[in-house]
Formats: sequence, structure tokens, C-alpha cells
Amino acid sequence: MHPDTRLIHAGVRFDAHSGEVADSIRLSTTYRHGPAAERLPGGFEYQREAHANGQDLEAALCAAEGGARSIAYASGMAAIAAVFAALDQPGRVIIPRDVYNGTRIMAREYLTARGFELVEMDCFDTAATLAAITENTRLVWLESPSNPRLMVSDIEAIADRTRQMGAQLAVDSTFASPMLQQPIALGADIVMHSTTKYIGGHSDVMGGALVFARDDAFAGRAEHHRHLFGAHLAPFNAWLCLRGLRTLHVRVARHVENAGRVAAFLATHPNVARVHYPGLPSHPQHAVAARQMSGFGGMVSFEMADRDAALRVASRVRLFTNATSLGGVESLIEHRESTEVSPPKSPPGLLRLSVGLEHADDLIADLAQALG
Ligand code: PLP
Repeated sequence: MHPDTRLIHAGVRFDAHSGEVADSIRLSTTYRHGPAAERLPGGFEYQREAHANGQDLEAALCAAEGGARSIAYASGMAAIAAVFAALDQPGRVIIPRDVYNGTRIMAREYLTARGFELVEMDCFDTAATLAAITENTRLVWLESPSNPRLMVSDIEAIADRTRQMGAQLAVDSTFASPMLQQPIALGADIVMHSTTKYIGGHSDVMGGALVFARDDAFAGRAEHHRHLFGAHLAPFNAWLCLRGLRTLHVRVARHVENAGRVAAFLATHPNVARVHYPGLPSHPQHAVAARQMSGFGGMVSFEMADRDAALRVASRVRLFTNATSLGGVESLIEHRESTEVSPPKSPPGLLRLSVGLEHADDLIADLAQALG
């Protein structure tokens, strides 16, 4: 079955009684049980542990990523925290130097406090990454493509090594979405998404998710953490994420088409110093991206000569909105350095675009007038 078809039907909870075709929202925080806490066949006890809308989303995410188990969270950060919390043996954790800055801060503050050796490195450099995966490595965290410089890691090559060394390989696949990259098929143990982004798709819901290649003890600990720390997403948010997932394939196709055109335009503009987009043949990991992705995504970064030039562009755009986040229908622009709190910061001339679903001609015209 094609992924498009699968996403329309995955996680549908058919109610034989009402016959409803659309998914409904179930808000109950508690569930009737027997006098000695015997659960009803639905299996629920308390919303913080599990609920129907969450399970429907998780079933659909498993189908989308080809995983054995999925756990949904209140945000992408909550999902990342659960992976870090599930590590139960001391040792090394590797994260990319170019990575979402919340991930970096959490790794630095949370993992080092728990005694892990944190290695921050260029995970797009495959040889260096393989060499860094030693016998005491517990987790390699990849983000591919990475935020904000769109670096690409060779997931399959790194997965071979983590498997040999008994380490977990987790991939933050938020920028790719399940439509463009399947980390589990490439050998990853865990796929992470901020469902706030492309999966939600409309800049109106926070959520996060993990999808596991195997339903094992590690996944069990990540779920235990969600229950204990109250990190489950609310039923309405689960419903919105699942609603977004159903149209993901059509939206992502247009994001990719628009971003490809915007990147090609920027690459030929005399005032633009550098464009970061894995779909450009000039991108240093273009060949890896072409091999492991079925499209190059809707995110584009580019560099102006300096901070002032970048801020001039950001203040002149009319269709692109100055805002953080990504993956919604509307195009966003962000001067990353201005939002970052921990080094290494992005180059001062770097602007990140979340290319939305407007007509590409209008987006290019807007950038053309802003670039002068
Ligand atoms: N991963 C990436 C690549 C992100 O861009 C973000 C947020 O911007 C996150 C994780 C964190 O997700 P959330 O904001 O849903 O907690």
C-alpha cells in the first residue's frame, strides 16, 4: 500500500455504534473500573497514562514510520527528554554540533548532570562520527536535515556502527517528516518528531512523538517517563496532530516544490553569500540526501554578508512572517542568531526560511524585493 493511502486510514477508531467516519475527541480524564481496579476492555485508567486519541495518533505514526511502537508527547522537547531519561547505563552520548538549540541545552544540562560524557561533533562527517562511536557509547542522536544549517547525516552507515557497538541510534526527523525519510528502514532504533511542525502543519498545536523500531525495554522506560512526568499530550492536541497527519503527503509535496524553487532562486542571487538546501547539487551532502530522502524538504537557510544585511532582508519581507518554528502553511523567516541562547550560535548573516504553501512565484517575488 502507498504511504498516502496508509496515512488516510491509519489509526481510525471505527465506532460500530455511532458509525462516525471522522475521528472524534474523547476528553475523559478518568475511566470506570471494577472495585479492585479491574480495567474495562478499552484498557484505560487515567488520561496521563494513556487515552484513545493518543493511541490513534500513535497507531498512525507507527504506520507512517514503519515502527513497532510509538509514544506521543506534549512537545518535541518532552519526547527528547524521554529518550535521554530512558538511558540507564553510564557512558557516551553523541549529538550533532548543528542541532536544534533546545536539544543541545537539554543534553548539556540534563545528560551531563546524570554523569554522561557528552560529545558534540559534526555528525555529517561520517568517518569522524563512526570513529567516535566507541564501546561505551549509549546513544547517537542525529538530526537530519539539521536545524538550522540543513546538514545531512548518513543514517544507514551510522546505524551499522551503533548496532555493532550496542548503542541506540535516534534520529530527529522533524525537518523531513515521515513523508521524505524513513530512518527505521535505514537502521535507526528511534525516530523523533516535533509534531508541532509538519505533522500538525498549521502552527496551532504542540506535540512530539517517538517511534521505535522494536517494542522493547527502552521504549517501555520512555513511556514510563511520560506517565511519571505528566508529559502526555492532551486528547485535543493528539486529534489535531492526527488530523494533520492525514494531509501530510499533499502538503509536504508542495513544501518541497516551493522550497526547491526558492533555493534555486537564492543560489543565483548576487547578494546571497551561501544557500543551505540539501536539494542543491552544491550542498556538501547532496549525494547522501538524494540516497536517503525522497524529497529535500521545505526548509532553506541562506547567508547574507553580515548581520546587518540579514536583518535588512528580514525587515523588508512582506509575505514571509518573522517568527520561529516551521512546517505550517504560511512562510516564516527567522534570523537564528537573534533567538539562540547557547553557543555555538548560527552565523550572524544566516536567515532560516520555513517555506510555506503559498504560490512559489509570490514567495520568490517577495524575497527578490527584500534582497534589493
Ligand atoms: N527538533 C527540532 C528539529 C526542532 O526544530 C524543534 C523545535 O523547533 C524541536 C525538536 C522541539 O520541538 P517542540 O518545539 O515541539 O518542543
